[in-house]
Amino acid sequence: MRAVVFEQWKMPPVLRDVDKPAPGPGEVLLKIAGAGACHSDVAVFHDYDESMAPPQLKPSYTLGHENSGWIEELGEGVTGLKEGDAFLVYGPIGCGHCPACSRGQDTYCENVADMPYLATGLGRDGGMAEYMTVPARNLVPLGDADPYAAAPLSDAGLTPYHAINLSLPKLAGGGKSTLVIGLGGLGLVAVQILRAITGATVIATDMKPEAMARAEQFGAVTVPGGEGQAARIRDLTGGKGVSAVFDFVGVAPTIALAMGTVARQGRVTIVGIAGGAFEWNFYKTPYEVDLTSTYWGTIEELHEVAALYRAGQIAPDVEYFSMDDALTAYQKLQDGQIAGRAVVTPNGR
Ligand code: NAD
Ligand code: ZN
Ligand code: ZN
Repeated sequence: MRAVVFEQWKMPPVLRDVDKPAPGPGEVLLKIAGAGACHSDVAVFHDYDESMAPPQLKPSYTLGHENSGWIEELGEGVTGLKEGDAFLVYGPIGCGHCPACSRGQDTYCENVADMPYLATGLGRDGGMAEYMTVPARNLVPLGDADPYAAAPLSDAGLTPYHAINLSLPKLAGGGKSTLVIGLGGLGLVAVQILRAITGATVIATDMKPEAMARAEQFGAVTVPGGEGQAARIRDLTGGKGVSAVFDFVGVAPTIALAMGTVARQGRVTIVGIAGGAFEWNFYKTPYEVDLTSTYWGTIEELHEVAALYRAGQIAPDVEYFSMDDALTAYQKLQDGQIAGRAVVTPNGR
């Protein structure tokens, strides 16, 4: 079968033939419906090298860490699941028995140092292939909802959902505002989630006018970048500032914007992995502001994201690519030419 394989640091992935995998005990073989191209993949093959990446990310393996598909075959000991049914895949795979894994938060597995990989598509073969094996525990049912457009929910949905979930206490009560910085794969779903589960005014910004136009269609108020941006955002909040900021870029200027617009007792969550720095200062930061970062989410939260999708409350914007064009999808993502999420459909549509 064909797969998009990450073979070497600092080199684009290659499209080549690999063996069709067989499910081990407790696993299923999934026929892939969609595999999303995440900007973190670009970091993996373009920015990282041996010295800075976790050892589990060492090549080579098939990319694709946000996936959906149908059960093709049940491995030994798997019961209660049916061939042909459609699922989202929870990508992270931890030890399965530490406190973090026990609450479905494999992202923070306490035994990660002993794990050979971090997730499907991140150290272990992922979904940019016709088939992939997955532990049965990592499957989240999609019912009869469209499995192709669902693929990004596994990361571009779950990651914002987790960040927003942890910020909900800040958004409770009337008259609150929230700010989303970066309206790509993750940010556009973040706007939808904020509109679906909070009553806050959603303010959004991006460098791309078309991304901001899309956010407006989802119910956000947008403010373009440039001089005076923070002041304009503060004005929209009646001078109070925003109660929760979500930065899906993470460079120094976006973190500065977040810290320059957050309200007293607000919360800033950096999700983008650009590695920007910020110098905290007692006199310049409003009192009791939390500045934090988050990584992906929990299995339970992915069930909640799937519920929002199945209820029609959120739906990722998707640009589809055939397997022949999978490498083009990554190139376009790298060049900032994808609106929403690029999804590769290895078995056609
Ligand atoms: P994307 O390329 O789809 O979207 C990024 C968006 O940010 C684009 O619309 C771009 O125009 C905009 N942007 C870039 N620089 C900007 C700036 N200075 N000001 C305003 N907007 C700007 O990327 P994505 O897949 O949505 O991922 C977003 C970030 O989140 C990436 O850094 C990715 O690696 C990271 N990520 C983190 C996690 C996590 O668990 N923390 C999970 C997935 C992705
Ligand atoms: Zn990702
Ligand atoms: Zn664990």
